[in-house]
Amino acid sequence: MFSHGIHQDTLMDKLKILADAAKYDASCSSGTAGKRSAQKGDGGIGSLTGGTGICHSFTPDGRCVSLLKILMTNYCIYDCQYCINRVSSNVQRARFKEEEVVELTLNFYKRNYIEGLFLSSGIIQSPDYTMEAMIRIIKTLRTVHGFKGYIHLKTIPNASPQLQIEAGWYADRLSINVELPTQTSLNQYAPEKSIEDITSTMGRLKEKISEGKTEKKMPRYTPGGQSTQMIIGADSTSDKGILSTSVGLYSHYKLRRVYYSAFSPIPDSSRLLPSQPAPLIREHRLYQADWLLRFYEFTLDDILVGTQGDMLDLNHDPKLAWALQNRHLFPLDLNTADRHLLLKIPGLGVRSVDKIVALRRFHLLSWEDLSKLHVSLNKVKPFVSVLNYRPHRQVLDQDNLGLLVQKPKQMNLFESSSQCQLF
Ligand code: SF4
Repeated sequence: MFSHGIHQDTLMDKLKILADAAKYDASCSSGTAGKRSAQKGDGGIGSLTGGTGICHSFTPDGRCVSLLKILMTNYCIYDCQYCINRVSSNVQRARFKEEEVVELTLNFYKRNYIEGLFLSSGIIQSPDYTMEAMIRIIKTLRTVHGFKGYIHLKTIPNASPQLQIEAGWYADRLSINVELPTQTSLNQYAPEKSIEDITSTMGRLKEKISEGKTEKKMPRYTPGGQSTQMIIGADSTSDKGILSTSVGLYSHYKLRRVYYSAFSPIPDSSRLLPSQPAPLIREHRLYQADWLLRFYEFTLDDILVGTQGDMLDLNHDPKLAWALQNRHLFPLDLNTADRHLLLKIPGLGVRSVDKIVALRRFHLLSWEDLSKLHVSLNKVKPFVSVLNYRPHRQVLDQDNLGLLVQKPKQMNLFESSSQCQLF
């Protein structure tokens, strides 16, 4: 028997329980950290390329990496109502020994099952006790075994600042979950947690990360930055409230990502929580809005214009919803419109916009130029004009431009993907 009533299981039993318990954490993207081997020269094992995995995550630059995603233990002394691992939950508990996590990671890595480790944990004894154990695991991987794979460590709320900082010397990315967007909601559902404590930790990590960037001779400090996660739909916070919190986190603490995780009812859940899951489309719309805020020069007011009750429109993606509210601005002439307006055209991504801006320096763009940019012509055609194309006015005057956006369909092998009717 382990202490705290945790039963001794076989390694595979524990893996089953602790990998399953980790699936509720959405913040598993590996960030944009480069290979450690590129930084520290040769030696050690590991690489961020190739292999098959257990938990697939997509990096912001589109790479897919596979991570061993586990909890060190699903035992926890806290009682966060939305969490299946809370102290009052009736789930089977397990705890890895530190050397077991090291061994599993190395074995899976050598077999090419994974490219890194995502390690989180419930809180045993105290936040510091737990954090120290997690640091020993990743420190052993790095310093004893020369592990060069990716490590994302979910830090423990309320652990001491020194430990939070120390973790960054061994992890590629650190995250600390806000979980709920307001202190009022935390008071109700996770009374042991405080937004102020969480954001103080984020502030310290931000300072340390920026120090590492300016001090070239220092070893790399958590090169993938920090991220967080918010649960959507467990409390009554509106999309406006959620996105306002995200905007604050991005601007004050330079977070790389805020992850949104739609609440789904858990076994034996508290009566305080909704009995129905939050719609996944809401989570999706929040991700889209988040993306527009970070890369498309949208403001929160832009995103929320025309929304009802401070909630995003679930029927249209936020960019199309904005276009529908601002249809008097369209069609936009791709040869003259400012970049910040081009970014607002449904169907045009940042790369396409930059290509348009670069190309139009040399010649006026035609429909044929646009079709070579691999953009969705069906999506953009109501909103743009070029040298030899302008949509009919009545197309823009239709009540719902969204109807023009066709659902994707798979084309047969002989259809040309560039077929488009000019009008
Ligand atoms: S501290 Fe983490 S693991 Fe523990 S109950 Fe809260 S969310 Fe769950």
